[in-house]
Amino acid sequence: MLDADFFRRWMTATALMVDREAERLTALDSPIGDADHGSNLQRGFNAVTATLEKEAPDTPGAVLTLAGRQLISTVGGASGPLYGTLLRRTGKALGDAAEVSAEQLADALRTGVDAVRTLGGAAPGDKTMIDALVPAVDALGESFAAARAAAEEGAEATVPLQARKGRASYLGERSIGHQDPGATSAALLVAALEEAAGE
Ligand code: ADP
Ligand code: MG
Ligand code: MG
Repeated sequence: MLDADFFRRWMTATALMVDREAERLTALDSPIGDADHGSNLQRGFNAVTATLEKEAPDTPGAVLTLAGRQLISTVGGASGPLYGTLLRRTGKALGDAAEVSAEQLADALRTGVDAVRTLGGAAPGDKTMIDALVPAVDALGESFAAARAAAEEGAEATVPLQARKGRASYLGERSIGHQDPGATSAALLVAALEEAAGE
């Protein structure tokens, strides 16, 4: 079973990975965006870990809803409201249980990903974070490691795609040949799950 501590570790591991990969995320956002994805997420997830330490929410759902709210209020770019919605809606779906199963987390994350699709209007293949999140959620029933691999594959598979949502879509065909920064950071978020589980 996964308790509030697990979800805190998930957010902390994500913040560490985002710090480590910030330059790469910003470099990916340079040819097909405005070169701020790494700094956007660094600001957001640093604020998340600080708030979690201060407010110490004591259920899985409360950890994720607080994290999501914090992302929405600190990240100005498109990714803030999108990741914020992902975590907030996943947290809401977990309710107020003290512990949840991996299966409940997989179901809740699917609800969260659906909310991101509704908010941003992106479908799989549009070259966004959705291209990493959907395969990850599909593989989560198997294991955290399988979800991580699926998300990484999904992110890499955005390279030949033409962007149909977000800033990169303004480039039309010129968005082809570059990996999507948001799909890349989504793969970090999923990889951090495996770290939080200590696998
Ligand atoms: P901004 O584009 O506002 O500068 P970021 O650079 O932080 O924001 O985030 C860009 C990423 O957000 C993209 O790489 C993409 O994965 C994701 N994104 C943008 N628009 C959408 C959308 N409508 N639906 C899903 N993801 C999106
Ligand atoms: Mg950007
Ligand atoms: Mg921006």
